[in-house]
Amino acid sequence: MQPCYNKIMKTYIVGNWKMNFTIGESSIYLHKLLKRISPIKGIQIAVAPSLIALQPLSLQLDRKKIKLCAQNCCAKDFGAYTGETAVAQLRGLVDYCIVGHSERRYVFNETDKDIRDKVSACVRNNITAILCIGETESERTFGETADVLRDQLTSGLSDIAKEDLGKIIIAYEPVWAISSVKGARVAVPDDISASIDLIRKHLKDTFGKDAENVPVLYGGSVNPSNCGAYLTIPGVNGLLIGGSSLIADQFIDIIDIAKRVK
Ligand code: PEP
Repeated sequence: MQPCYNKIMKTYIVGNWKMNFTIGESSIYLHKLLKRISPIKGIQIAVAPSLIALQPLSLQLDRKKIKLCAQNCCAKDFGAYTGETAVAQLRGLVDYCIVGHSERRYVFNETDKDIRDKVSACVRNNITAILCIGETESERTFGETADVLRDQLTSGLSDIAKEDLGKIIIAYEPVWAISSVKGARVAVPDDISASIDLIRKHLKDTFGKDAENVPVLYGGSVNPSNCGAYLTIPGVNGLLIGGSSLIADQFIDIIDIAKRVK
């Protein structure tokens, strides 16, 4: 059966700055973005700076234009967890938190359980979790993409009730298409649409009709030349952008294209 596409009106453009920019550089960059961006109906822009920059940036932010996103969080609410930051401590600073990014899964060995607990912690603390899922190059080669996506979704959302879906965004990021991965390839829309259909179908089978309102983003080597094509894939509600979000002209071009496309 053809998956039912959502009726979500908003398009999400989220920049993941990863471990780049000092606090000063982050502040200058945000200033530049705020000067050049006006609030756009139907487009939600967010940036994910380093943890240490969240608090200072939150003071200079115009939330009507841009919202803040954390790159990671701890699943525990408080306690003796040296070096960790609880979602409860992010409350008031961020609206979104990226969970299960492939760099967390494969560089820092986060398990499915870690990711599931972080998603729950976000929902419990009223912060929208951007749950990243995606197959590696070898999983795709061995025809395992569908199983990997289903497993990551099932496990990441296993503590989530239908009523919590308003606090969930899914980001489909095939690991082989992420620009920082050695030998990365840029995905063509045909590579992506089958996965988007599968994600939408799985969400609907699990949560029913309410799942139609869950935004599904695409991420992986997005830039101003290819973003339009990704945004027109049925079932895609926005983009999670790494490398191109670090360059103001490119990030703003992507936002302008999103405005025209959606
Ligand atoms: C990412 O790491 O989330 C990402 C999408 O990076 P890039 O856009 O650089 O491929």
